[in-house]
Amino acid sequence: MGEGSRAVSKTDALGRQVWDKAAYATLAAEKARTGEVAKQVPKEETEKARLRREKRERLNAKAPKERTFLEGRTERLKLETKLGTQRFVNAADDAAIGFHCATCECTLKDSAAYMDHLNGKRHNRLLGKSMRVERKDADQVKDRLKALKQKKLTSLTP
Ligand SMILES: [Zn+2]
Repeated sequence: MGEGSRAVSKTDALGRQVWDKAAYATLAAEKARTGEVAKQVPKEETEKARLRREKRERLNAKAPKERTFLEGRTERLKLETKLGTQRFVNAADDAAIGFHCATCECTLKDSAAYMDHLNGKRHNRLLGKSMRVERKDADQVKDRLKALKQKKLTSLTP
């Protein structure tokens, strides 16, 4: 199907649906000739969809190709620092409202959504991590438990 036979439905000034009759006639003629139902009519990409696609492609190009195992977070998120605070924000500045992720260039409305995002597949993929966890053997687990016990004992002694 060529670019010229693209059929699109639009609405007129009163909101009524208007059909591209010439394009649909071309599709019908093609169906009568080949005996096959034409593929689904492609929709025109909206400006918003184009921007979203370009952003996705830009971020995907930036993502590391080699991915490491999923690791525990080492830094504190300090979500409670915004608790009970008020501030003026510029509505045009998307990053100022809510919780902004610089890696994914997106803004989340609340802390729960932000946490879901940070633990999500897409965010971790852009950080170069897969969602798989490294498998540890019994000795590694014993060593870790021993180290945690030692750490607890040293913190209890004054
Ligand atoms: Zn992110």
